[in-house]
Amino acid sequence: MSRKQNKWYFGKFGGRFIPETLLFPLNELEEAFFYYIKDKGFKEELNYFLKNFAGRPTPLYFAKNLSEILGIKIYLKREDLLHTGAHKINNTIAQCLLAKRMGKKRIIAETGAGQHGVATASAAALFNLECDIYMGEEDIKRQHVNVERMKLLGANVIPVKSGSKTLKEAVSEAIRDWIKNVKNTYYLLGSCVGPFPYPVIVREFQKVIGEEAKKQILEKEKKLPDYLIACVGGGSNAIGLFYPFLKEKKIKMIGVEAYGAGSLTKGKIGILQGALTYVLQNKNGQILDTHSIAPGLDYPGVGPEHSFLKEKGRVKYVTVNDKGAIYGFKFLTKVEGIIPALEPSHAIYYLKKLAKIIGKGKVVILCLSGRGDKDLDIVLRYEKSLS
Ligand SMILES: *Cc1c(COP(=O)(O)O)cnc(C)c1O
Repeated sequence: MSRKQNKWYFGKFGGRFIPETLLFPLNELEEAFFYYIKDKGFKEELNYFLKNFAGRPTPLYFAKNLSEILGIKIYLKREDLLHTGAHKINNTIAQCLLAKRMGKKRIIAETGAGQHGVATASAAALFNLECDIYMGEEDIKRQHVNVERMKLLGANVIPVKSGSKTLKEAVSEAIRDWIKNVKNTYYLLGSCVGPFPYPVIVREFQKVIGEEAKKQILEKEKKLPDYLIACVGGGSNAIGLFYPFLKEKKIKMIGVEAYGAGSLTKGKIGILQGALTYVLQNKNGQILDTHSIAPGLDYPGVGPEHSFLKEKGRVKYVTVNDKGAIYGFKFLTKVEGIIPALEPSHAIYYLKKLAKIIGKGKVVILCLSGRGDKDLDIVLRYEKSLS
C-alpha cells in the first residue's frame, strides 16, 4: 500500500471501495478539502455562519435535576438548540461552503428520514445553491412533513422508485447523478460514512462539538470529564464529541447504538457505501434490514473510524432498544424540561444505567444531538400501540 493510500484508512477500516468513475470526483474533493480547511478566509466565513446562522457555540448545560437524581454530574452538550434542531447543520453549512469554493453550482444528497435533507436544503438556500435531494418513495410517504420543508426551502425532492424504495436505493441514484454531473455538482454526505475523504470531512466539520465542550468543561469544572456519551447512527455527532478528547487516555467514551441497528455491536466487517467497516449483514454478505424507533439510528453501517475505535478498545459501544429510548425521552423531558430527539434518548437511557455502576460525583458529558419535536408523532403512536 502506498503512503498516499494509508491516509485513506483508520487502521484497516475505511478506504475507497468504489467504481473507477468515482476516482476523479473523490480526488478533486480531497484536494479542495485539504486546501480549504487550512485557508484563513474559509475558516472565518465558516465560523461566521456557524455563529450567526446556526447558533454556535451551543451551551454545555449542567443538568442539575438529572444530576441530583442519578448521583453523578451530568452536562448536556446542547446541539438540540441549533437552527433546524440538530447537529447535522454543522456539516451541511461547511460542505455547502466548500462546494461554493470549489465552484460547484449544485448540491445533491440522499436522505432517509429527511433530517439530512432538510439540513442540506437549508444550507443550500443560504448559499444560493441549486439542490436536489434523492429520497425513496416509501420514505417520502412516511416523512411528508420533512418533504414539505425541503420543498419550501427550494430543494427538488426526487422520488426513487426502485427496490425497497428507501435509503439504499436513494444512495445509488445520488451516486449515479454525481458521476454524470460531476463538473457542476457536489455530493453532500450527511454522516462520517462513505469512501475517503468523506469520513474525515464530516469528522472535521463536526469536531467543533468536542472542541467547544472541552473548553466549556474546563471553565466549569476546572478538569476534564470522566465519561463522554453519544448516540451512534452513522456516527457523526459521536465522533464530533469524542475526537478532540481521544488522546486523553483517562476519559472513557461510550457510543450508544439502537438495538435493532447495532452495526458495531452485532455486525461483521464488510463493505458498505464504499468503505470497509462494521456492517449488519447475513452469512452471504447481504445487508440486513434494520429497525429503530429513532429514524437517525436506523442504518445498517457505521463510520469506519468508529470501527477502528472499537477494535482498538478506545470506545465502548452498547445498545439500547426502543423501550429504553422512549423511557429516556420522557425522563429527560419531565426532569429537565428539555424534549430530546429519540436518537440521543438512547444515550440518556444508558446514562441512567451507567450512573448506578460508576462512582458518585463522576463528571459525564452527553451529546444531546437534537430536539424531539420531530418525534412527537412517533412517541404518541408507540404509546398507543401499548394500550
Ligand atoms: C441524524 C441524527 C443522528 C444520527 O446521526 P450521526 O451521524 O450518528 O450523528 C443522531 N441524532 C440526531 C438528532 C440526528 O438527527
